[in-house]
Amino acid sequence: MAFRANYLKKGLALALTLATALPLLGGCASQNKKMETSIFAMDTVMNLTFYGVDPEAALKGVQEELVAEIYSLEDKLSATEEGSELYALNEQGQASLSPETAELLTQALELCELTHGALDITAYPAVLAWGFTTGDYRVPDQAELEQLAAGIDYTQLDVDPERCTARIPQGMAVDLGAVTKGYAGDRLARQLEQANITSALLDLGQSTIRVVGSKPDGSPWRIAVQDPAGEGYLGVVELTDLAVGTSGGYQRFFEQDGETYWHILDPDTAAPARSGLTSVTVVGPSGLVCDGLSTALFVMGLEEGTRFWRSHPELEVELLFVTEDGTLYVTPGMDEMFSLAQGYEDREVQVLQ
Ligand code: ADP
Ligand code: MG
Repeated sequence: MAFRANYLKKGLALALTLATALPLLGGCASQNKKMETSIFAMDTVMNLTFYGVDPEAALKGVQEELVAEIYSLEDKLSATEEGSELYALNEQGQASLSPETAELLTQALELCELTHGALDITAYPAVLAWGFTTGDYRVPDQAELEQLAAGIDYTQLDVDPERCTARIPQGMAVDLGAVTKGYAGDRLARQLEQANITSALLDLGQSTIRVVGSKPDGSPWRIAVQDPAGEGYLGVVELTDLAVGTSGGYQRFFEQDGETYWHILDPDTAAPARSGLTSVTVVGPSGLVCDGLSTALFVMGLEEGTRFWRSHPELEVELLFVTEDGTLYVTPGMDEMFSLAQGYEDREVQVLQ
């Protein structure tokens, strides 16, 4: 019942469908069922698909647990929702945290450090000033931007993962928008594995994807990568048991006086990051890392981003950069997974070493 109330609270329609049963190899009696649901959460549309063996009630139970987990994370991690742990931290300068929030803040801070602040989860006052949270867009003047940039500094955020507490100086604020969907994908994948589900495609919106296993027929999942300069798809990444994060200036932006301003900010300037890239796609074992890194690499640009990739093999990520002139740059592992879509065959693809 609490589950249902949660839906009503969100005012969402749940599309719960049981798709056609697929025959299993060997023709045994049990059948692989496709479970599919769409929800609106974390300011985006999410599509969760998985395949499992009957009984149907058990599969529905798994599906409900996935949806409940997303809403539970949103309730804790939203920067805008009054009553969330993050809201309390930003309002009061300190907060008690659930283990999940403490874990995500700790891991996000590690990524901020690893990327030397290209990812900085204390950019929130600047995100607010540009109106990206509310849609009341405005262009702050130079003096305001300088003041905002001076206030972005993740090292001022203090998280105690043992006590599950966090503190932040007055005037500063945290926003986990760059990492939450990737983290949610990791948690959902774990839930599915615990339920012995070995085939799932979790589309967490805004090009944040997590796949579990392969397709029911054993072939890899095929994930489309959007053309940042158009409506179509540049190509497809084929993968098994991995996460994907894409960040691009086309995902959330506004235009004023002929200029385009997007939602990924350079923490050094508090203004939209203009690094010569139009999108970055990151594939790897951790959704949190893929999500956070796609944002950070978009800020860094091609050269610095490539250097970062070379010096961090432990992250096991593969990258696809798209530059403003439309050229694609891929790491060797990405080159193996990626193929250009129809209509894009003439696109230049450079392999990074
Ligand atoms: P999306 O949310 O569209 O998938 P990202 O994962 O790239 O895109 O995250 C962008 C969000 O992260 C922004 O909406 C903003 O809230 C926040 N943000 C913007 N710039 C930065 C940055 N340099 N570091 C950390 N968070 C950022
Ligand atoms: Mg991101």
